[in-house]
Amino acid sequence: MNETKQPITDAMQTKCKSCGGIMQYSPADEDLKCVYCGYVSKLDHTAAEIVENDFNQWKDRAAENSEEQTMEVTEIKCRQCGANTTLAPNVSAAKCVFCSTPLILNEASVKRFWQPEYLLPFKITDKESGANFNKWLGKKWFLPSQLKNGGVNTDMFKGVFLPFWTYDAKTFTRYTGERGENREETSRNNKGEEMRRTVTDWYVASGEVTMPFDDIVIAAAKTLPPNIMDRLTNWDMMNCVKYRKEFLAGFVTEIYQIDFREGVQKAKQKMDNVIDSTIRADIGGDVQKIRSKDTQYNDLMFKLLLLPIWISAFKFNGKLYQFVVNGRTGEVIGEYPKSTAKIVMLIVAIIAIIAALVMIF
Ligand SMILES: [Zn+2]
Ligand SMILES: [Zn+2]
Repeated sequence: MNETKQPITDAMQTKCKSCGGIMQYSPADEDLKCVYCGYVSKLDHTAAEIVENDFNQWKDRAAENSEEQTMEVTEIKCRQCGANTTLAPNVSAAKCVFCSTPLILNEASVKRFWQPEYLLPFKITDKESGANFNKWLGKKWFLPSQLKNGGVNTDMFKGVFLPFWTYDAKTFTRYTGERGENREETSRNNKGEEMRRTVTDWYVASGEVTMPFDDIVIAAAKTLPPNIMDRLTNWDMMNCVKYRKEFLAGFVTEIYQIDFREGVQKAKQKMDNVIDSTIRADIGGDVQKIRSKDTQYNDLMFKLLLLPIWISAFKFNGKLYQFVVNGRTGEVIGEYPKSTAKIVMLIVAIIAIIAALVMIF
């Protein structure tokens, strides 16, 4: 563990062996590259053998004070959006990568945080991100025409590592509930007409289900809006490498705001949704009711992961539209302006079609 315990703040200070310049991670080369002379230093991309941490062993310990699993980080909080990011010690001016507000540097402080254990390195470049964004935007039907023709001026793409917790558990659940079986019932009304209706007969049910979970991913920061965060799900986890500061060189790293104890509650909620459908399948019948359930989360394990995204934004009619590009797949997720004229046109067209159908029949 010790060899990997390097402060994130050193990330931007790796020096070139050839000219002494600053080395940064280059997504195009997938290696460290000198920004001055182009000297490339190879990095080991071997997929890491994943070792996870026992949740129960850590939950009651003051993990943040343990030198074993934590590292010192210079963090600075944005007053505007609340983002917590890392900062190099020799930086003299910086803007928040999420909202572009200037950061107040003398508010930076050194604290201990759980050390990220694995990460996915950047693979997509900022140029590719820009091209993907233009393609993505071009396909949006409701996009105002002036944006389609004139193109969009986006902010500079900023590479950010976002923190995520992942959880594993073997769950065992005892439940009680009811199984509903539907049947058709035929009766006659007072005019003598035959009436059909569906009746459900309910039977008591109970049982046990076991369900293993692997790598339930929970966002450890809440700076990006949920409509972007919740859709950042497409990650090739099997290619995770062991955390090394060299992979972060040239990027900003967001620090978690949700610790592993808080994150586990969200992971259990996600697991519960799956457990509920397992129980329903176990009960069988046409419809089910779950009356009670008691779940044990055995072998609960966790780890901290950093995942790469490019962040940018553009303005239209005075409104800011934020979007991100997945640093592994190039997938674009974000908001875009919708033309009211085009929406009205579509509604009018739908009404016209309905009216035509009504005339025909
Ligand atoms: Zn160099
Ligand atoms: Zn901010």
